[in-house]
Amino acid sequence: MWGILVTLILLCSCTGQIEEQGSSRRATKAQQSAPSPSWLTKSYLLGQFDPPRHPLFDRIPAGLAERPNMYLRREALAALLEMADAAGRDSVRFLVRSATRNFNRQKQIWESKWRGDRLLEGREQAPKVYPRPYDRAKAILRWSSMPGSSRHHWGTDVDFNAFDNAYFEHGSGKRFYSWMLAHASTYGFCQPYTRRDSLRPVGYNEERWHWSYRPVAAICLKAYRDSIGYADFKDFLGYEMADSVRIIDDYVLGVNRGCY
Ligand SMILES: [Zn+2]
Repeated sequence: MWGILVTLILLCSCTGQIEEQGSSRRATKAQQSAPSPSWLTKSYLLGQFDPPRHPLFDRIPAGLAERPNMYLRREALAALLEMADAAGRDSVRFLVRSATRNFNRQKQIWESKWRGDRLLEGREQAPKVYPRPYDRAKAILRWSSMPGSSRHHWGTDVDFNAFDNAYFEHGSGKRFYSWMLAHASTYGFCQPYTRRDSLRPVGYNEERWHWSYRPVAAICLKAYRDSIGYADFKDFLGYEMADSVRIIDDYVLGVNRGCY
């Protein structure tokens, strides 16, 4: 855990070191104007990179991941391995079903639903049921994010065990979810898509399988809010709907406050 924290401090705050030796006022000013870490670019936030070739990403070891070639940010993976060890000692097992997905992968998923090649919730062919582009985008957004807007782009977010909230209500699924509610924050993980209620009135539906490594994801979320606009959505079917469905304001920013 300390190794992760030290790595993060080095990654995020090294630019403020010289100023911190001066007066506290100068240090505060330096923190406010500290440049972003070099990896934190608009392309990164939009998922426009290849995780296996990115120097800050590592592959999830076999045994923990459903498939080979699943990647995470190094800090997130270290925390995940530590959390998996602790969970294992409590006889709670989990399997990574999905980790980093870049823009191109998300575009494949989105467009296959947009065109109707992949059914929504296993039954609805989107172009037939939702001929209006706005309705179609909103329907896909129940369970899939728009390319450029997914937290899975950042290498910080993981889907565990089953893409079905009901799975987490009984047996091993319930044991997993209860364990995560009690312990995930110790390892830096939060659940971004909690139940939709007055505290989280907009955004994606509840996803009990989706957890996020907050120390890095919160940096990404803040940078996203500050630097990405609706004009940055392009190069996929239905991109014109980004503004009308409020993809940034309601979906990217519409997460559990515990993930900010
Ligand atoms: Zn997910």
